[in-house]
Amino acid sequence: FKFKDAGLHPIMLKNVEMAGYKTPTPIQKYCIPAIKMGHDLIAIAQTGSGKTAAYLIPILNQLMGKAKKLAAPRPSSEAFKADPALYVRAEPLVLIVCPARELAIQIFDEARKFCYRTMLRPCVVYGGGPLQEQLQQIGRGCDVLVATPGRLIDIMERSHLFTLRRLRYMVIDEADEMLDADWQQEFEQILTGGEQEQGNVKYMLFSATFPAAVRRLARDYLAMNHIRVR
Ligand code: AMP
Repeated sequence: FKFKDAGLHPIMLKNVEMAGYKTPTPIQKYCIPAIKMGHDLIAIAQTGSGKTAAYLIPILNQLMGKAKKLAAPRPSSEAFKADPALYVRAEPLVLIVCPARELAIQIFDEARKFCYRTMLRPCVVYGGGPLQEQLQQIGRGCDVLVATPGRLIDIMERSHLFTLRRLRYMVIDEADEMLDADWQQEFEQILTGGEQEQGNVKYMLFSATFPAAVRRLARDYLAMNHIRVR
């Protein structure tokens, strides 16, 4: 299995090449076809395994081309330039929830590489960062949002600025870390409280370990397909 045999859009293949990735890592070999086929999945994977690209490449690949149709209409960049206070309600198609600011920024950097020339716009929000600036960023159009749970809930509560009603993919990255950090209640709110149409959302759960709390989350929310890569 090579990237060029994965049935990826030429633009995505080019982005993979520009990222300097020559051969897929084991987790990418399993995840790319599974996500392309439309499965939910749980992957047991460590940082360093290439897990971020394992979900970003196939998810963005499936959405590109449909971005114009699926994404909320938004003003042109000229309109934003003319009026910096202009914003649209953020309606992401992809939500990636992760435990910490540093990880959120890393995932966002990776998302930027793979969103290049796809018409999909990535954004990142995290606790401890400037809320107003983050709101302004998502208000300029937000197709792919990387978020830490607390800040995400702050933003979800501003429902005039943000909705999950167009959501197609939700990725929970480092799920074990987040459940350890006692984000259980926030998770419930994120998974059920964002106006997302349940049947329309594919769930991807990534975790380094597979303790009871993660199994419970998986059981409650995923149409299951196990992939175990160590
Ligand atoms: P991650 O496990 O997602 O944190 O990725 C670990 C590192 O591996 C990151 O710096 C990625 O840019 C890099 N990486 C991911 N996939 C590949 C690949 N197929 N070939 C080379 N490097 C990769």
